[in-house]
Amino acid sequence: MADIRNDPVVVIGLGRFGTSLALELTRRGTEVLAIDHRPKVVQSLAGQITHIATADATDLEALRQLGVPDFYRAVLAIGSDLEASILTASLLVELEIDDIWAKAVTRQHGRILSRLGVKHVVFPEHDMGERVAHLVSGRLLDYMEVDEDFALVKTRPPRDYVGTPLGRSNLRRKYGVTIVAVKSPGERFTYATADTELTYDDVIIVSGSTEEIERFAELP
Ligand code: ADP
Repeated sequence: MADIRNDPVVVIGLGRFGTSLALELTRRGTEVLAIDHRPKVVQSLAGQITHIATADATDLEALRQLGVPDFYRAVLAIGSDLEASILTASLLVELEIDDIWAKAVTRQHGRILSRLGVKHVVFPEHDMGERVAHLVSGRLLDYMEVDEDFALVKTRPPRDYVGTPLGRSNLRRKYGVTIVAVKSPGERFTYATADTELTYDDVIIVSGSTEEIERFAELP
């Protein structure tokens, strides 16, 4: 099977999200066709993205002329204009683009996109807000929800778990969480084992359900 990871991607809507996505894909060596209906935005990005065009994405003929039907993957990054987002999504589905990603601003918006046949709906503002809430309200250094109820966090070890081999800490039984990796100052992350003894200065990666991780992260 062909490796699709480096297939060209069409990015529609060059607001903050679409622009940073298109530039990052370009930086990683992926060919991008970026489309926006604001000529000024297109001009300001010309030269930084492989192919870039001014067009109204709700116009089926315009999408055809740009060769959009030949793409395997598309990212629809129009968020605030709900009508344009929905119309464009239905055109991408009609054009039988296999892998469609779309940004949604609200849950309802996301539901409509999914019903239209968009495979991957993302909620960048909502997800980032949740993530930052975890960071500002606790001891967490980083937080990533990998599924609705499962997270990976970067934090410091609670006092009671310093100096005891993890194998004897009963962490999983008591809190339902697992310490996956440990980083001592000046070193790289290594996998935690039953013999690992944590120090106050270590940084750890912990996995578990969101609720269990929050309980663990509140330990002094
Ligand atoms: P962000 O919050 O990431 O900045 P926006 O939803 O505000 O995202 O930006 C969406 C982008 O999509 C804007 O640059 C806008 O010009 C573009 N856009 C909106 N409607 C269309 C359309 N019909 N065709 C092409 N581009 C569009």
